Amino acid sequence: MEREQIKNTTVKLMAVWYNRLLVIFLALLPLWFILYIESEISPDKKFIAHTFHVIVISFAVLFSGFLSYITWRCYRATGEELLRWLVYGFLGFTIVYAPHGFLTHYSMSNVWIFSLYGPASRLVMSFCFLVAMLKYGEVIELEKAGQKRLTVPVILFLVINILVFGAAHLTTVDLNWWRLLAEYVSISMFLSSVIWMLIQKTRGYMALLYGLAMIWFALSCLSFTIGVVWDHQWWFAHIIFAAGFLLLSYGVVQAFLTTGSFKNIYSQTELLDQILAEKKKSEQALIELKEVNQKLEELAATDSLTGVANRREFMSRSEEEMSRAYRNGTELCMMVVDFDHFKEVNDEYGHQAGDKVLKNFVKLTSEIMRPSDLLARIGGEEFALLLPETSLSSAAKVAERLRQYIEENPIAIGKKNIKLTISIGLAQYQPKVDTVKKWLHRADELLYQAKDKGRNRVEVEDSKDVGD
Ligand code: GH3
Ligand code: MG
Ligand code: MG
Repeated sequence: MEREQIKNTTVKLMAVWYNRLLVIFLALLPLWFILYIESEISPDKKFIAHTFHVIVISFAVLFSGFLSYITWRCYRATGEELLRWLVYGFLGFTIVYAPHGFLTHYSMSNVWIFSLYGPASRLVMSFCFLVAMLKYGEVIELEKAGQKRLTVPVILFLVINILVFGAAHLTTVDLNWWRLLAEYVSISMFLSSVIWMLIQKTRGYMALLYGLAMIWFALSCLSFTIGVVWDHQWWFAHIIFAAGFLLLSYGVVQAFLTTGSFKNIYSQTELLDQILAEKKKSEQALIELKEVNQKLEELAATDSLTGVANRREFMSRSEEEMSRAYRNGTELCMMVVDFDHFKEVNDEYGHQAGDKVLKNFVKLTSEIMRPSDLLARIGGEEFALLLPETSLSSAAKVAERLRQYIEENPIAIGKKNIKLTISIGLAQYQPKVDTVKKWLHRADELLYQAKDKGRNRVEVEDSKDVGD
């Protein structure tokens, strides 16, 4: 058993590490292709396709515009600041990257007009995504989120476009140096997002997608630094970038279609853990509910002063015992007990003393009754005792014993001993004629007879009288 457990934990550990390596391998997957192209395919081999490039970039810009909108909707729904900066990233990319597409044909006259927008858009995007990651977990009020507008960032991105256009015409500066610098800064910012996530131990399904996308973006920048316009490395850089973009967009669309939140999208493992935790909670709640229900049932069935059954419980238990006696042909008796001159106890010693007497009566009666007997308090100082499988003569003996027992056991109230007596009416269940009410009524009448005849006595039913 123990060995099995060790094996299980070893296998589990291996699976966890396999999972980690898998993620690392996946993150670095584009790198193998970059290296392959770099070593195997000459930069002289070019694929010059202007119109194709325009179409591809147009699609990229359309997707990214759509994604900006979706992310904006998520932000409005959750107020997560990370989402606002994701919107800026997508929007920045949409606006700054678009000229790279529609100015493709200018590449023949001025290659910089065409090829500076790429690095510029990646710079904007990497900056926004880094800020987004720094804002992870920050949430603002929905009302405030609703007031945010995109006008300023849009203007800013348009200004960047104009600046890039101007820069492309500078002849005095080494634009290639600036292009490379932009790519390297982008790489550092994309990687900084990942490092920040690792430092903050940001875990979860979305964090994984985000991290992978950031690494692919960084690798795409790397590929762009190595590539030359229209060569294979350059085209491949586009592909890596698109892959990162699709991965991130997949995450955002998942968020949009589910919780709208970046933080609260969970992996299957997390979901399973949550379900299990919730299941445990509801099971616990169910157990507690059952306990409370049981307590409530007990409360509804018991008399709060003495802890014995109340009138309602006595009636329903009597019905049960009646049908059992009827089925089995056994005898069943009931006695009704009332204290004699109980008012005087209250008058002389106070109500609390009276209560004490009642509690004491229960204690004394419990000492002489059988476990199968049921004692109930059916009125103020009126009790009833149900005696299953007991003949009338045996019940009469019990009643007499109880009467004597109470008489002989005065109750100590303070320094005084109060001598009390009880009167009892005893009636036997008559299967052919009795309902519980009728039967109780008979026992009550006998009790009154006992009172009439001078109290401190047991009045037993004459079974021949019943049914007449
Ligand atoms: P009797 O011999 O005819 O039965 O005289 P009694 O004074 O006992 O008369 P009865 O049974 O009619 O009186 C019931 C009295 O019991 C009235 C009330 O003061 C008292 N009592 C009823 N319920 C309680 C209770 O919960 N606590 C206390 N301390 N007294 C109660
Ligand atoms: Mg009384
Ligand atoms: Mg009474």
